[in-house]
Amino acid sequence: MSTNSRRLATRCAHGDASRCDPGGANEPFQRPIAQSTIFDLGTSADAEAIFSGTRKGYAYSRFGNPSVDGLAEMIADLEGGAEALVTSSGNAAVLCAVTAGLEGRDGPLITHHDVYGGSFELLGILSSIHRVPVEIVDSTNTEAWLEAMSRAGAVLLETPSNPLMRLINIEGTVARAHACGARVIVDNTVATPFNQRPFDFGADWIVHSTSKYLNGHSDMIGGCLVHKEKLSAMHRTIHKNLGGTVNALDAWLVLRGLRTFALRMEAHNRNGQAVAEWLLRRPEVARVYYPGLATYPQAELFRRQMKHGGALLSFELAGGEEAACRFLDRVGLILHAVSLGGMESLVTRPAMSSHRGMTSEARRRAGVPDSLIRLSVGVEALEDLFADLEQALSGVRTPGPEVDNLGKKAHDPSL
Ligand SMILES: *Cc1c(COP(=O)(O)O)cnc(C)c1O
Repeated sequence: MSTNSRRLATRCAHGDASRCDPGGANEPFQRPIAQSTIFDLGTSADAEAIFSGTRKGYAYSRFGNPSVDGLAEMIADLEGGAEALVTSSGNAAVLCAVTAGLEGRDGPLITHHDVYGGSFELLGILSSIHRVPVEIVDSTNTEAWLEAMSRAGAVLLETPSNPLMRLINIEGTVARAHACGARVIVDNTVATPFNQRPFDFGADWIVHSTSKYLNGHSDMIGGCLVHKEKLSAMHRTIHKNLGGTVNALDAWLVLRGLRTFALRMEAHNRNGQAVAEWLLRRPEVARVYYPGLATYPQAELFRRQMKHGGALLSFELAGGEEAACRFLDRVGLILHAVSLGGMESLVTRPAMSSHRGMTSEARRRAGVPDSLIRLSVGVEALEDLFADLEQALSGVRTPGPEVDNLGKKAHDPSL
């Protein structure tokens, strides 16, 4: 049986070891970590073959490293792509993908307002210092978004977006972008290959912050970009020279984290769905933003594009900003911390963290009210999560008439 015909859970459980040639007796099952800057070049003829690319070999770890290559193969396989490049952060992956995506193109990079904050700031630097044309388009205006594809050099999109969990139709975007020769880059960090397969909808590149679900243990920073086709020599040159390469030990940590990826995602999906439904029933909660809810306004696109709702969600408390702050002060088991995708549940208030550079009014217009709380649901026992949410909410209960649960809406992206 070829390793590729095995299910994702099986491929994860065996990790990259199953992708190597079978070792003999006494060979370690785990590949050793290639913690080395340099590699022996051998004879002049060997060195010539390695540098000219006629033979696969290693010279210097920024150019290539066996542990890093093991991770690249594993992630390319999980996403159903041909090849991947591994980077030292998600931001480095976005920089690399945008550079490769714009190669040979004249038009602007088209992206949307609610792309990840770090990507937004990076694109600001590229546009102001390096004069890379970048155009921010409102993706909730489908007509304007699709119309922008006709002038795109390349497209960077994130679905679901964070923290509002808005979805963008990958297939529809790709059809319009490809008609004009533009490549489409999808940031699949929040959905993960377990819940969403952007290459099935025609995307060209997929980027990830491996710091989140792929590693899953909140103990390293890393990223990767996966290409649907074989990488060109230019792609490898861009990656090598931008310099955001990862070290062998961090690559190995992600490889180790991926062994439990399928298990973790099953638990994340189950907990995410249960917590979203639990919050929706609570009188203290005014609105829940989670694509897996039956009442979700983009439910049809969700069913077409995603397999599960994942474990990232946001909600607003009826008591407003003051209640949100009190809630953050009261959570115990759930950590008040940034990031997402770890096994532990985390909450933040975007107005205070990712969106603090905006005025309160600009945030309200962007659909991120000061009372919004983002929750990355971990894999803890649901009973313990509900107990912590319950005790935190009990401290924010405002006296007065109960909020009418029937009138409560799931998030409407047109708002
Ligand atoms: C975290 C994140 C990034 C950036 O990744 P880093 O590893 O922090 O550099 C990019 N995109 C999304 C969606 C993220 O959540």
